[in-house]
Amino acid sequence: MSARGAGGGHHPRRRFGQHFLCDAAIIERMVAAIAPRPGQALVEIGPGRGALTGALLRRCEALTAVEIDRDLCEHLHRDFAGAGGLRLINGDALRVDLRPIAGTRRLRVVGNLPYNVSTALLFHLLAQAQCIDDMHFTLQREVAERIAAAPGSKRYGRLGVMIQFACAVERLFHVGAGAFRPRPKVDSTFLRLHVYRDPPVKVTDYALFVRLVRHLFSRRRKTLRSSLRGCLDERSIGAAGCDPAARPENLAIADFARLAEQARGSAGPLPARL
Ligand code: SAM
Repeated sequence: MSARGAGGGHHPRRRFGQHFLCDAAIIERMVAAIAPRPGQALVEIGPGRGALTGALLRRCEALTAVEIDRDLCEHLHRDFAGAGGLRLINGDALRVDLRPIAGTRRLRVVGNLPYNVSTALLFHLLAQAQCIDDMHFTLQREVAERIAAAPGSKRYGRLGVMIQFACAVERLFHVGAGAFRPRPKVDSTFLRLHVYRDPPVKVTDYALFVRLVRHLFSRRRKTLRSSLRGCLDERSIGAAGCDPAARPENLAIADFARLAEQARGSAGPLPARL
């Protein structure tokens, strides 16, 4: 399979965010970073014309791929029929339940994610992080910056907090727009998310932590005092080690976790309002 991969005659569909990798050196760098080994459980999201799929299958025995575009699935079935080892799911990765694919193993998830749904996909995968070992993704550079952002930076927000809570983040290398056909308007970053088995920040009630982070960033210009009125008073915010005049963009992940612990302990039904 050439770097251009399968799918001759197929016209890229904008609604599926289709930009196909066509730079063999970049594909090799990605595969080297992923370092797949036989016996590992790999899942590729959006195999497209199979540029990465083919290179991965040469290094591991089997791969499950989820592709939404029925025409591309037909091409992939045909092009990889002889190779064996490819299990293709024609469906929406936003709806895929990874647990039956994982079974008793932890998955290695990879993909050159469609830009239009990359954030939704990341949240969908995070919700299933317990059956994932690591993830390697090509993402729009701006999304990768949001994922890796530190408190105080303008890119820091809910996406970064939720991913950094669950995963160690490594931005591996830059992928220029010229590596794709058709050429996207933006550059990309290839990054690794390694899911913590033992997260450095602990929370007792993860669902409440999720709601609290979402609530605070939905009012990111407001102070904690204002956003948490009716839920946590200034004393409780202070007891969580936070300044009531602070804004969510300045909080570390551990601060959100301590606020969630305080909200958990607060009297009445108020945390449900978060
Ligand atoms: N991996 C290929 C490559 O690198 O050349 C294609 C990458 S292209 C940016 C994204 C791929 O994801 C396309 O093949 C597209 O059809 C597929 N896709 C888009 N939305 C999807 C979804 N919700 N579920 C599964 N696949 C999707």
